[in-house]
Amino acid sequence: MDIGAHVSSSGGLLKALDRGVSIGADVVQIFTQSPRMWRSPSHSAESLAAYRAAQAAHPSVHATYCHATYLINLAAADDELFARSRRSLVENLVAATAIGASGVVLHVGSHRGAGLEAVLAQVKGALISALDEAGRVLGDTPCPLLLENAAGTGGTVGRSFAELAAIIDATGADPRLGVCLDTQHLFASGVDFSTIEAADAAVAALDAAVGLDRLRCIHLNDSKVALGANRDRHENLGDGEIGVSALACLIGHPDLQHAPAMLEVPGDGDGPRAEDVTAARAILADGLSRRAG
Ligand SMILES: [Zn+2]
Ligand SMILES: [Zn+2]
Repeated sequence: MDIGAHVSSSGGLLKALDRGVSIGADVVQIFTQSPRMWRSPSHSAESLAAYRAAQAAHPSVHATYCHATYLINLAAADDELFARSRRSLVENLVAATAIGASGVVLHVGSHRGAGLEAVLAQVKGALISALDEAGRVLGDTPCPLLLENAAGTGGTVGRSFAELAAIIDATGADPRLGVCLDTQHLFASGVDFSTIEAADAAVAALDAAVGLDRLRCIHLNDSKVALGANRDRHENLGDGEIGVSALACLIGHPDLQHAPAMLEVPGDGDGPRAEDVTAARAILADGLSRRAG
């Protein structure tokens, strides 16, 4: 399993690769535009192509993932918010594909209490049409769109494997869709993985719902909030409610090793540090050795 982290791309996209190297990451995740603003990405075609070339030839950072804008809500009842969300998703997909990213991680959005059933057709239509439109803009198949499991705050879509499966099924099992598993969101949504047996059950449930071939990356985070607290609050590994033992039980699972694990932890306040990547590697080694023993 490759270990990496979300890194800043401020000062130019290529800086993200340097930041990945500086903390010892095998993979990086970046935003291609401001995550909390609707502003479209402003990268030149040259800078996108330069990143793609640098990534492809990089000696230690094997892959880049992009995280889509947080403002996107494909389940929005408001027409303007929905239209902006769809447009932003297309822009995120186009930029990510242009840099050679392995996927765009997406928070599907929130139905604000209406229930998944009420928004499923809208979400399905938005996913398919955004992928189709990105494909037309690119003249090529866009990179995979990876639906992230949600912590379950206030009507968030994707709060269970069943919800992720319902969305993928609604698209006719579109091959352009995958899944990103966030360990903090999983824990906050009420899934325990504190023992090997519990972790095995969680992975089996993910496999049964969406299939592990759809799992393309993992977000490796500890949690500031308790099991089932339904809030998205990341903590440094070992400093939170999940703890290193449970994280080891999960990421040591033999059927998860194809998916890179990326940290989205606070560090000192500026995001993942070298010591956080080192801690993640130790947790993985522990998890693998528990299984081997
Ligand atoms: Zn996320
Ligand atoms: Zn995440």
